[in-house]
Amino acid sequence: MPKSILKIALDLPLDRLFDYLSDGHQVQIGQRVLVPFGRRSLIGIVIAKSNESEFALEKLKAVTQVFSDEPVLDSEALSLLKFSADYYQYPYGQALLSSLPARLRQIAPALTRKQYRYLITPLGQQTDINTLPARQTVVRRVLLALQTQTALTESELDAISSSARKVVKQFVADDWAQSEQVAALVKTLAMAMPEAPALNDEQALALSSIMQTPQQFKAWLLHGITGSGKTEVYMRLMQQILENDDAQVLVLVPEINLTPQLEARFRSRFAQFPLVSLHSHLSEAERLHHWQLAQAGAAKIVIGTRLSIFTPMPNLKLIIIDEEHDSSYKQQDSMRYHARDVALMRAKRLNIPVVLGSATPALETWHNAQNGKYHLLSLNQRAVSAAKLPQIDCIDTTKVNLQQGLTPQLITALKLRLARKEQSLLFINRRGYSPVLLCSACHWIAPCLRCSSRLVVHLGQRKLRCHHCGDEQKIPLQCPSCGNADLHPTGHGTQRLEQTLAQMLPGARIARVDRDSISRKDALLEILEQVHGGAIDILVGTQMLAKGHDFPNLTLVGVIDTDSALHSPDFRASERLFAQLMQVAGRAGRASIAGQVIIQTQFPDHDLFNAIRRQDYVSYANALLLEREQVQFPPYVFTALLRAEANDFALVQKFLRAAFEQARSLSQDVLVYDPVRPQMERLKGMERAHMLMQADGRPALQRLLRNLLLFIRAQPLSARVRWSVDVNPLEF
Ligand code: ADP
Ligand code: ZN
Ligand code: ZN
Repeated sequence: MPKSILKIALDLPLDRLFDYLSDGHQVQIGQRVLVPFGRRSLIGIVIAKSNESEFALEKLKAVTQVFSDEPVLDSEALSLLKFSADYYQYPYGQALLSSLPARLRQIAPALTRKQYRYLITPLGQQTDINTLPARQTVVRRVLLALQTQTALTESELDAISSSARKVVKQFVADDWAQSEQVAALVKTLAMAMPEAPALNDEQALALSSIMQTPQQFKAWLLHGITGSGKTEVYMRLMQQILENDDAQVLVLVPEINLTPQLEARFRSRFAQFPLVSLHSHLSEAERLHHWQLAQAGAAKIVIGTRLSIFTPMPNLKLIIIDEEHDSSYKQQDSMRYHARDVALMRAKRLNIPVVLGSATPALETWHNAQNGKYHLLSLNQRAVSAAKLPQIDCIDTTKVNLQQGLTPQLITALKLRLARKEQSLLFINRRGYSPVLLCSACHWIAPCLRCSSRLVVHLGQRKLRCHHCGDEQKIPLQCPSCGNADLHPTGHGTQRLEQTLAQMLPGARIARVDRDSISRKDALLEILEQVHGGAIDILVGTQMLAKGHDFPNLTLVGVIDTDSALHSPDFRASERLFAQLMQVAGRAGRASIAGQVIIQTQFPDHDLFNAIRRQDYVSYANALLLEREQVQFPPYVFTALLRAEANDFALVQKFLRAAFEQARSLSQDVLVYDPVRPQMERLKGMERAHMLMQADGRPALQRLLRNLLLFIRAQPLSARVRWSVDVNPLEF
């Protein structure tokens, strides 16, 4: 008997599959189908075929349509998503569907305009042009071009004639030419790329170590200071793996803004291997097209942000995670996966190597490298022998006279760079003009009405804006609390710093990089090109600038006001600040000119700054790990967070109280903490609280979560609060 019952995953917040009759449709596992659900029609993915259903057959409805595209998810992708959904306690169907490009979630066949090129066949090569009628000029020209060039792309055909594509299709029908799908070219940063340099000893050792077992699961941590040549190691490794039978390589980068640079480097090195990028700045059509090229095995190199970790790649042989410590690998809503952790699971299941690269590995990663779970490879020198490590100075801001928030030392250093025609970067992690608007009489501070946060002054737009919910208000003319007209923008943001510099250093060409100035898709790319072209003297920006960029003529980095992170209640704050500062510091003196870094702080003797001055990740990481072990924080324990929010705080309290009682009764091995309010008690008008669960082992925690979720889903109250589970939460 044919298996006529289909188990189908749907994009619904229910942790189960749904049974439908195939009704004579030929369907494959992993294929997209349309099914009736209540009064709606939904897209589903076929997970299994069966003879059995727990429901009576006559109650089952039939699949209404099968989309003619091949399976969208292969068995490896399906099982990876299943594993991840279980691990992160998220409904499988929602995990599956949200991993797909938007076009595949729409009720339509996935028609993309695939790009083709056309190759001449022996028959076409032998055909004598002179036997063709003279009036068929386009036919003759296309054939001639094919015979002389052997291959033509669609745009080359368009250049011959607007009817050339029609002609070439006839050639294919006549067996004069054959078509071949090609990877799309995406706009990249124009940069001249040098030839591959000879590896230094450390790089060579890293490469040969990994290549000893290229077909085995091993997690490698490539720990190398900025500029030590990690990317060069990735590329050599990719080269060797790619040359091997049809292999595909997946490279993850933390941010979209970093893809163009890396993409340009890879493209110039790997001209022979089709490369696609996958990130959220692509149009829906591009994303689908790139995804399909990866899924078909046509794209050999896939470079993408966290969402690309689930892309089906039939010949995946290597995963590289650049800047593995970056918190943007963690998804902060729906399925709260960490792309690095999923990558490790994927590599393990495929039995392939995975390489994590960073100058400042996440403490979790460092811990695993220490206990032997990961294999440590270190690059301790800058790769370009002339490039020296920058000199780092911390200036005590309590001991000098600040001018508009800048120390005399920093101002002098900036002037020196201008005189020498070198570039500078000022790092300040606050966008806007100033972080607060303060009444000088009664100390009123403009608050956001929807969040427990303060409004940021955006002077250019004459607005106060909340950086958490986006709410905007006009700047009041007088204090709403006491009527005083003397309201001060207090503290410094990127806009104010830009303005200050323009006044202080007339003639300097200044560019600001933050989320407000880079809202357009190519805006950052344009600024980066200007920096490379020498059209900018001073860059002012947020962490957007800290990562990855390589500016040979940049010799000064100034860091302004990062002290708040030193005293943050978040136990990961100092780890993050250290990584950030090491990264910005790494921007200085990447080429032959020595760099200088000036950090302005009230606490120059803080351990963190001592470690930064020595540029000593290892001892700082070890010290932090010791602290974490003493107080039993991750990575020494495993945690999960149950978050809840609602308009009415009483509901949140009731919901979490019930969950708390249940969790306490469910497990002796898991420590369940009393529900508490997060630092942001109110966000976007919602009252928030959470409950932390902590265990020595993962299985106990997973068991508790599964049972707790069964309980929560069965509670009517759960429909009245917004709740979510976060396994291995990064922020709370
Ligand atoms: P990272 O990724 O660790 O920051 P990169 O791979 O970008 O470092 O290398 C930094 C610079 O050093 C680049 O300009 C790169 O071309 C160059 N480089 C890398 N390896 C070598 C080498 N073995 N010899 C000379 N230059 C190198
Ligand atoms: Zn006032
Ligand atoms: Zn707000």
